[in-house]
Amino acid sequence: MTDRYQAKAIEEKWQRIWEEEKTFQVREDSGKPKYYVLEMFPYPSGRIHMGHVRNYSIGDVVARYKGMRGYNVLHPMGWDAFGLPAENAAIERGIHPEAWTQENILYMKNQLKRMGLSYDWQREIATCDPAYYRWNQWIFLQFYKRGLAYKKNSAVNWCPSCETVLANEQVIDGVCWRCDSTVTQKELDQWFFRITDYAEQLLADLETLTGWPDKVVTMQRNWIGKSVGAEILFPLIGREGALKVFTTRQDTVYGATFVSIAVEHSSALALSQGTGQERVVKEFIDRIKQTGQAARGAEDAEKEGVFSGAYCQNPFTGEQIPIYLANFVLMEYGTGAVMAVPAHDQRDFEFALKYQLPIRVVIEPRGKHLTPEELTEAYVDEGVMVNSGPFSGLSNTDGKEQIVTYLEERGWGNKSIRYRLRDWGVSRQRYWGTPIPIIYCEKCGTVPVPEDQLPVTLPTDVPFSGKGGSPLLESKTFLSARCPQCGGAGRRETDTMDTFVDSSWYFLRYASPRFDSAPFDYQNAGYWMPVNQYIGGVEHAVLHLLYARFFTKALRDIGSAPVGEPFTNLLTQGMVSKETYRCSEHNWLFPGELVGSEREGWRCPRCNRPVEKGRVEKMSKSKKNIVDPEDLINRYGADTARLFTLFAAPPEKDLEWSDQGVEGAYRFLTRLWRFVGQHEELMRSVSSTLVEEELPPELREIRRAIHKTIKKVTDDIESRFHFNTAIAAIMELFNRLSSIAQDQQTLKEGVALLKGGLEAIILLLSPFVPHVANELWVQLGHSRPLDQMPWPIHAESALEEEQLLIVVQVNGKVRGKITVAADIDQASIEQEALHDQRVKHFVDGKKLQKVVYVPRRLVNIVVEG
Ligand SMILES: [Zn+2]
Ligand SMILES: [Zn+2]
Ligand SMILES: [Zn+2]
Repeated sequence: MTDRYQAKAIEEKWQRIWEEEKTFQVREDSGKPKYYVLEMFPYPSGRIHMGHVRNYSIGDVVARYKGMRGYNVLHPMGWDAFGLPAENAAIERGIHPEAWTQENILYMKNQLKRMGLSYDWQREIATCDPAYYRWNQWIFLQFYKRGLAYKKNSAVNWCPSCETVLANEQVIDGVCWRCDSTVTQKELDQWFFRITDYAEQLLADLETLTGWPDKVVTMQRNWIGKSVGAEILFPLIGREGALKVFTTRQDTVYGATFVSIAVEHSSALALSQGTGQERVVKEFIDRIKQTGQAARGAEDAEKEGVFSGAYCQNPFTGEQIPIYLANFVLMEYGTGAVMAVPAHDQRDFEFALKYQLPIRVVIEPRGKHLTPEELTEAYVDEGVMVNSGPFSGLSNTDGKEQIVTYLEERGWGNKSIRYRLRDWGVSRQRYWGTPIPIIYCEKCGTVPVPEDQLPVTLPTDVPFSGKGGSPLLESKTFLSARCPQCGGAGRRETDTMDTFVDSSWYFLRYASPRFDSAPFDYQNAGYWMPVNQYIGGVEHAVLHLLYARFFTKALRDIGSAPVGEPFTNLLTQGMVSKETYRCSEHNWLFPGELVGSEREGWRCPRCNRPVEKGRVEKMSKSKKNIVDPEDLINRYGADTARLFTLFAAPPEKDLEWSDQGVEGAYRFLTRLWRFVGQHEELMRSVSSTLVEEELPPELREIRRAIHKTIKKVTDDIESRFHFNTAIAAIMELFNRLSSIAQDQQTLKEGVALLKGGLEAIILLLSPFVPHVANELWVQLGHSRPLDQMPWPIHAESALEEEQLLIVVQVNGKVRGKITVAADIDQASIEQEALHDQRVKHFVDGKKLQKVVYVPRRLVNIVVEG
C-alpha cells in the first residue's frame, strides 16, 4: 500500500469493479423489503454543476445506507431530455436538438459515473426517446377518452422570448419561470389537462404527506386555493339579467356598496352601452388587458377602475349600487365579479377612498363601535354583525351559514366552493417535445391517433430558424396525415407537450424501463412504488410535484398505476452558494481575475477600482461564483467532493462554499488513509473485536466511544438525514481511536479494538465516501467486499457507563461501600466516600488527617483518635 492517498486511482478502480460486477443492479425480490430512493432527474444541459453534486450525493448516501440495512434498493437515474435549450442550440449553432441532447447526456453520464453514484444504469431512461414519449402520447389518449384532455380557446400566458405558452404554475411573479421575461396574455387554441377534477383529492391527500416538508405542503395547499363561500345574484337595474358574484364573506353582504367586475367579464363592455361611459370603458379594458394577470393581482399593485355606467341591486338591502370595472378583479378566480365591501376588504377600501364610494360598517369587534370615518384600513377580523337586517347581533361566523340558507331559500344564490387551481395548459408551440397525437380531418374533426400507430415521432426535415411559430409547421412529412377514421386527407396537431408531462410519471417508468406494452408494468410498479425518498429542489413545489401527484392519481383511476401518491418522503435540499465579487463599473468578477490580495484589498482587473466583496449568493454563471465539479474531482477526487458537500451543512439548508472546507475534507481522508497504512501489518495479524474482550479502563472508554458513535451516526441518518453531524462524530471517533497508537503498550493491548474501531469507521463512512472506504476495507485484510457488509450495530452493553464498587475504610477498617461511575475523578470519589451515611458515623466530629485512594478499589479515611 502506498503512503500517498491517490484518490484518482482508487476511484477508477472501484467504479470499474462496480460496473463489472453489476453491484447496483436490482430485481424485484419479494423476500426483501424494498426501498426506492430517487433524485429529481436532470435536464441534460451539458455539464453537471455543484447543485447536482449535492443532490446526488445526498441520494447516494441514502441508497447505500439502506442497502447496508438489508433493503432491496432501487436507485435509478435518467434524463429530462426535452426542452428549449436544445432547440435554441439548434437555432444558434445549427446542431440538431437530438444530437445536442445526446452529446450532453453522454458527457454528463460520464461525469456522474466519476462521482461513484450507486445507480442502476440498466434502468436509465431519456424522455426524448420515442420508446419513452410514445407513452406520453398513450397517456394523452387515455386522458382524451375520459375528458381529462381537452382543447379550448382561451387567454393564455405567453412568453414572448421563449415564444410559447406557459402554464399558470410556470409564471412566477409575472415572469417566465425559465427566462424571466415578462409574461403577456394571448388568445389561442390550446390543449389542457383537467387537473381541476382532482383539486379536492390533491388537497385532501396533502394530509397524508407527513414525510414532506411543511412549506411544500403549504405551498401546494395555497396553490390549490380552496375557498368555501357563496354565489349571489345581483339583479341589473333597467335591464334583463343579474351579475353573479362569488364571495367567501357573505356575512358582509349588507355592506356591499358597489360591485367590481374584471375587464375580461363578458358583460364588461355591454353594461356601458347607452350610458355615455362607452368610450372610457373601452379604453380601460384595452389598456388593462395588456397587463399580465399576475401583475394585476399583486397585493401592492395600484388599484384602478372605471364606472361602467350601469347599476345593480343588492338583494339584501334593496339598494341600487354602481358597477365598476376594476383592474384587480381577475376572471381566473370566482366569477369575474365581486361584491365590494369597503369596510371589510382592504382592496375595496382603497378603491372606495379613491373613487369616493360609500363605506358601511357591518361587522364590529365585540364590545366596540366602529364608524366609517374612523377607519384607516378595512376591518377584516371576526366580530358581531351590525346594520345587517335580521342578522344583526349574530357572530359573523354564524351569520355566514345563516345567510347561505337564507339566499338559497329565496333563490338569490347558493353555497359554492371554488379553487384557485386552473386546468393545466400543455400545448407548446415548439419542436423539441412530445408530439400531441391528434389529427384534424375536415370531415371527422378532431381524431385521436389510434394507439397501435404510436409513437408519432418527431420529423427530421425541420428548419430551425428561430422566427417563431412551431417548426413542425414547416415539415412536409409531418404535417399531412391520413385521417384514421375516413382515410381522407388530414393535418397533424403541431403543438408539442409541455416538458413537465415527461417528468410527471418517469418515476413509474423506472420500475420497468424497457416495458413495451404499457407505460410500465403494473406488478413491478406495485413492488417498487411509492418512492420512499424523493430528493430535489424546492423550486418544484407547485410545478413538478403537483403535476406528478395529479398524474399518479389519474393513472391510478385509469387502472395503470398501483398507488395514488408517488412520493412518501420528500427532502428539498438547500442551494449551494458562494461569495461574489463586484466592480461598480464592470459588475460581477471571477475571484481568479481579481488584482491585489485579501490583505491590501482586491481591485478590478480592468479599471483598478477597489472591488467590494459581495453577498454570498446561489452559484450561478451570471454572478461568476461557480465552481466546476469537474475541477474539484480532478484535483481532490469524488470522495472529497462528496464528503465536503455532505459535511458542510445539513441537506435541507443552504451550503456555503468554502475552499478550506474542501481542503479539510481532503485532509481527513488523507489522515485516515495514512493511519490505516501505518498499522496495516499489525492489524492484519489480529482479528478485530468490539464487544467481549476484557480491556484496561482507558480502552474500555474508547470501546464505549465506538459504540456511541455507531449509535449516533445511525440515529443521525435515520432521523432527518443529519449527515453533517454524523460525519463530525466519525471524525471525532477517529481522533480518539488514533490515540491508541501513540503508546506502544496501549497499542499492544488495544490492537484488536483498534482494528474493530477502524472497521466501524470505514463501514460508517462508506455511504459518504464509498471508494476510499472500499479500498481501506481491503487493506484491513477482508476478502468479503464492503459492498456486501451490513451496517454496524452498536451493543447496548458496551454503551453502559461503567460502575465501580469502592470499599471505604476508616482508619483501616471497612466501614462502607459506594458505587461510582468509572470515569469520575478522584476528588469526587473522596467526597462521595466522606458523605456516605454509614461512614459519616465514624468520621463526624473527628479531625480528618488524610484520605488515601487506591484507584478503582478503595478509599481509606484516616482520622484522629
Ligand atoms: Zn421565457
Ligand atoms: Zn376523417
Ligand atoms: Zn472595473
